[in-house]
Amino acid sequence: METATAKVALSEAELIHRILGGDHELYCDLIAPYERMAQVGSAYDDPDSAVARTYVRDLAASDADVAWLADCRERRELAVPPSGEPALGGAPLDAGDQQHRTVIALAEFGMCETGGLAREDFRQAVRRVIEELWHDDPPATWQRASKLLTTGMAPHDVIHALAR
Ligand SMILES: [Zn+2]
Repeated sequence: METATAKVALSEAELIHRILGGDHELYCDLIAPYERMAQVGSAYDDPDSAVARTYVRDLAASDADVAWLADCRERRELAVPPSGEPALGGAPLDAGDQQHRTVIALAEFGMCETGGLAREDFRQAVRRVIEELWHDDPPATWQRASKLLTTGMAPHDVIHALAR
């Protein structure tokens, strides 16, 4: 739907280009920025690809192994569940940003049962687990998490188990 809109916008731009008689300078000043906006708009219209980029943006290279990237994405989606929620204060939260990860973690775990830990200790433990999963450092954290996930444990509870 959005892509179709962008296409219409582009052909409108082409039409104006023709009306302007192919005046290149005028085209560059008036139409080209508009076309670029339409193209950027259509690229961001696919929410799934935008989310995927956020999760493996720093890892994706042209020669990156697809299976490895999928594993990384799974690991990071455990660390930071993709919510698709509109962000706090209207600015989109970016899982690739460490401070945003903390905001997301506190939103999910801030009021949880702490399992006997002091609230602040529990929050710090959750933040540590999330950063360990995000960076796969140490790898043992994700190995343990994968095992718990295969037992059918809910992702939220896996984080709790690792934060103990
Ligand atoms: Zn909880």
